[in-house]
Amino acid sequence: MTTTAQDRHSLIRTDWTETEVRELYQQPFNDLLFEAHQIHRRFFPPNQIQVSTLCSIKTGTCPEDCAYCPQSVRYNTGLESEDLVSIEEVVQQARAARAAGATRFCMGAAYRSPKQKQLDVIKEMVRKVSDLGLETCATLGMLTSEQAQQLKSAGLDYYNHNLDTSENFYKEIITTRTYRDRLDTLGYVREAGLKVCCGGIIGMGEEQADRVRLLQTLATLPEHPESVPVNQLVQVPGTPLHGSEPVDPLELIRTIAVARILMPASHVRLSAGRSEMSDETQALAFFAGANSIFYGERLLTTDNPEQERDRRLFRRPGLRPEGPEGGKGAPADPPADVARSHASP
Ligand code: SF4
Repeated sequence: MTTTAQDRHSLIRTDWTETEVRELYQQPFNDLLFEAHQIHRRFFPPNQIQVSTLCSIKTGTCPEDCAYCPQSVRYNTGLESEDLVSIEEVVQQARAARAAGATRFCMGAAYRSPKQKQLDVIKEMVRKVSDLGLETCATLGMLTSEQAQQLKSAGLDYYNHNLDTSENFYKEIITTRTYRDRLDTLGYVREAGLKVCCGGIIGMGEEQADRVRLLQTLATLPEHPESVPVNQLVQVPGTPLHGSEPVDPLELIRTIAVARILMPASHVRLSAGRSEMSDETQALAFFAGANSIFYGERLLTTDNPEQERDRRLFRRPGLRPEGPEGGKGAPADPPADVARSHASP
């Protein structure tokens, strides 16, 4: 199907109503997948997947109380905490990630919000990783407008700050910062000219209606996030959400498909929880519109599938990694020695 830029533009809306989103979500599965996949093909090459690597630059002892997170100081999960790592270590990991086919390097720090001293070091990390030709992303908690501008000046491309769930269900999950706080940070990030990475987590005990509302909130931000991570809860012993009822994999696929329809030009990322998904579930997620993953052994503090499994995941359905800025992909079978990312949210 040939689609002009004008046709594509007409599909990008930020005025979705809750009823519209619910109707999309609840339509028969095959109809939903057909619609999502058609839209996916209009905006992206269907067999390309963007690959990011996530590196924890400061692990654990976070004062926040996110009920899913082993990095909160409030839960006893046996997690080994680590102070801000050295700039050299980050550069070394970024080099390894680039060699393994990653085009974006995400630096995650378990902070409520960074202090100026910490931000100064992180800005230097951003400059050095950027010099390697990688896109840079950071997730450091809440930011002020001024901090967002500093990161932009240092060359940061993306800032990740998730909404996690619907505004209604949010208070069951986090009490130490409000939904409004999160929206404010997202606003500062946008104003500073950074690209936004923002999504949520499913399987935390929320209702389908919460997933619908989360998707509607994301799709009615003044501008759609460029990256929309869809995480599936990884149940970590010691966190309050350990023992939650696992979510039906088809709910995950529905969530991805609706995200694709609502935010057609965004990269939808299959994020945490992949190690508990079969190759077939992940392949279905790619058909439904996911076109980005985290690659590497660890997704911050939770397991990410082994490298060989990821290579097989690309090989079996004939997928290839996307090059920088959506260009031609790196080799279809990335080398095995992927960066060993460690810890974060
Ligand atoms: S998700 Fe982030 S803010 Fe929340 S406890 Fe974990 S590290 Fe802290």
